[in-house]
Order: sequence, then structure tokens, then C-alpha cells
Amino acid sequence: MYYCDIAIIGGGASALAAAIEAARGGAFVYILEKLPRVGKKLLVTGNGRCNLSNLSANTQSFCGDTRIIAPALDKFGEIVEFFESLGLYTRADNEGRLYPMSNAATAVLDALRLECTRLGATELCDFEAVSIEKDEFFRISAADGRKVQAKKIIFACGGKAAPKQGTDGSAFKLLKPFGIKITHLSPALSPLACSAQELRALKGLRAQAAVHAYKNGDLVAQSKGEVQFGENALSGICVFDLAAFTPDELSLDLMPEYTEDDIFNILTDIISRREYATAEDAFTGLFNKRIAQCLLRRVSKLPFNAPCSEIYPDVLHDLASIIKDWRFPVGDGDWDKAQVTCGGIAADELTPELELRRLPDAYACGEALDVHGPCGGFNLHWAWASGRQAASSALAGLR
Ligand SMILES: Cc1cc2nc3c(=O)[nH]c(=O)nc-3n(C[C@H](O)[C@H](O)[C@H](O)COP(=O)(O)OP(=O)(O)OC[C@H]3O[C@@H](n4cnc5c(N)ncnc54)[C@H](O)[C@@H]3O)c2cc1C
Repeated sequence: MYYCDIAIIGGGASALAAAIEAARGGAFVYILEKLPRVGKKLLVTGNGRCNLSNLSANTQSFCGDTRIIAPALDKFGEIVEFFESLGLYTRADNEGRLYPMSNAATAVLDALRLECTRLGATELCDFEAVSIEKDEFFRISAADGRKVQAKKIIFACGGKAAPKQGTDGSAFKLLKPFGIKITHLSPALSPLACSAQELRALKGLRAQAAVHAYKNGDLVAQSKGEVQFGENALSGICVFDLAAFTPDELSLDLMPEYTEDDIFNILTDIISRREYATAEDAFTGLFNKRIAQCLLRRVSKLPFNAPCSEIYPDVLHDLASIIKDWRFPVGDGDWDKAQVTCGGIAADELTPELELRRLPDAYACGEALDVHGPCGGFNLHWAWASGRQAASSALAGLR
């Protein structure tokens, strides 16, 4: 049996921030991580550069209940200062995305682990927590039979996204015996499956678009940016940001700055200038050639070797319409490729201090909560701030 003041279940971003906060406050801490090492997911964040925060992050940046988001961000939202206190300096890009000065995710993990070591916060790896019991103390049992006894616990097991990084959602079972409600889980920040035939011809291409997400015919969200066409999926940050809304259809507006009438006039003008060309080359001045052909194929059976002069105004009207509203039926996001989980421990299960109402002296943080943000460093911002909030609350109880 291992004994400690605070046991943190999980060894990811929020857990390491929690461990530092708790140990700085004088608590003896164990970090219980089911993988052979802590912080594995951190190393793949931001394409290996770790986009650790966003300078614009505030309560409104997140989907979730502000009653639990605001207190953590108010108290622990100063991420630059937190990392400087670990000796890690950061740099923001022109969209406010914050990266370590070295541009290496390893530097972030190293900084966190060095501070944990300095403070005596101890890692117990290959420790997959399989049960939590509580009487006077908490006892956490691992799959291999090890046990940890703690006065307080922090649940920092993440969500269900990216199971190869240790997070497959199974840890929520630990909370089940206490009746703690977990909201519906769905993949967020994920490509969206799409079986449209035409994607095969578009595979590997990218296009700038305004993207509208529909569910049962209703517009549920929209974004803007670069869409990437895959063989069986649509992706790109602007698609990722829509996944949490679980749309069943996406509409791409390839020329959002123009009206349909403007586009008709532009298409007419192009045709008049390209009378010498064939239909397959008609609109390459506007779009990638394969995209232009795909759009033309959608609205007309005209052979690609027909002269441009045979693209009549009715076809141009249909083209203008599809350029503004190119529909793709989409399916679910992909847990393997998702970066974040939509859903988690229900907000009403938590106090504003992130204590679990049904399990006093237990706290929760990070992606395990029903809180998530868009791409751009927001999710790690939440992990650091909520981890420190949970630890600070646990410390207050210890004293
Ligand atoms: C590919 C990828 C890229 C990303 N890039 C960014 C980015 O650049 N910026 C950003 O803001 N966000 C990014 N994210 C999201 C961000 O990494 C997460 O939101 C964040 O790590 C959540 O922190 P957490 O501590 O709540 O959970 P996690 O970091 O997921 O940590 C949870 C830990 O708990 C462990 N665990 C699970 N169950 C148990 C158990 N039963 N017992 C013991 N341990 C357990 C897991 O192994 C894991 O180590 C990215 C995610 C992915 C997958």
C-alpha cells in the first residue's frame, strides 16, 4: 500500500498541473498513470510543438457550463506566468496560439516533470486504476493489485478521444459506483466521415470555404477556413471545430465573399474569355482543376472535351448555386483521430471548486469534465487551469 495526501488519477496535462499546485502547497502527491510514462499525449499535441494555450482564451471560448469554467479560468488562467514559473518561456503566433519558445512539446513535458521531481510529487506508472473505495480515506486499486491510500483524490483521466494515448473513456467506470452522471460522449475536433463518391476524385485537395453544419435540416454551427478532402472524410481545422455539433450534413461555400448573382456574373465572364478552351479547363482560374471538374460534373453531363461555349447560362446558374452551397452528407467523428471529447462529468455533479458533489474530497479536472474548446490551444488551457483549480481546492480541504 502506498500512502499520500493527494492521489491524482491520470498522468496527463491536467494531472501534472494539479500535481505541481498540490505539491507547491505542501501536499505529498502520487500521480497514478496507466501508461508506462506520464504525458504521452502532450508529446503529440500541436503536431509535436504543443500549442499550450491561446492568449484570447476566456470563459466564452469554451462549450460547457460557465459556473464551473469561470472560477478556474479567473484564478488560474495566467498560463504564460505558470510556465515561466517552471522556467519554460513561450511565444505566441499572430492568432494568439501559444507555443514553447523551443517549439518542442518535449520541452513542456520536461518542464512539468522537472518541477514535479523538485517538489517530490511521485509518478506511479503502469498503474491503471480499476476501482475507488472510500471510507475514512480513499483507496485506489490498480489492475496489477497495487493500492494507494489517499486523503483526497483528483480524477484527471481525460476523455475518450485518442485511445492510443491512454484515453478510451473506460476510466469513467471508476465513478459509476458513486452515481456520478456522465453526459453523452462524442468525438470533437475530429474529421467527419463522408462516403460521397466524388471525394475519391478530390482526395488530397484543399479549398478555402465557409462551412455550415446542419443537423436534421437545421443550421447548428458554422466556421471558415481550409477544408481538406480525404477519401472517406472531410477534415481541416474548420471541420474539426464543427464535429462536436454532430452534424449530418456539411455545406461548403467556396466563395463566401460573393453572392450567387456575383458568382454567376464571374462564371459568365470567364466563359466569354475562354471560348477557345474546353469545359475541363473552364474554371481552373477559380478553383483547383479537379474541384472545378467535380462541380461541373455535379450540374451537367457536358463532356469535358466540349467547348466552353456549350456551357449555357442554366448550367452557370446551377454552378453558382453549388459553389455557394456544396452539400456533403457526413457521419460520425472518429475517436481515433479526434483530439478532444465532447461530454464528460456533468456540470451539476461539480461544485464551482471542482469537487464532486456526490463524493466529497474527490475533485475532477481537464477533459474528463463536460467542457471543451475549439482548436488553437484552448483545451490545454482548460487542462492547466482546471487541474490547478482542483488541486487548490483539495489543498484547502487538507489544511
Ligand atoms: C493528436 C492531438 C493533438 C492535440 N493538440 C492539442 C493542442 O495543440 N492544443 C490543445 O490545447 N489541445 C490539444 N489536444 C487536446 C489536449 O491534448 C487534451 O485536451 C488534454 O491533453 C486533456 O488533458 P487531460 O489531463 O484532461 O487528459 P489527458 O491529457 O488525456 O490525460 C489523461 C491521462 O489519464 C490516463 N488514464 C486514463 N485512464 C486511467 C486509469 N484508469 N488509471 C490511470 N490513468 C488513466 C491516460 O493514460 C492519460 O495519460 C490534442 C489532442 C490530441 C489527441
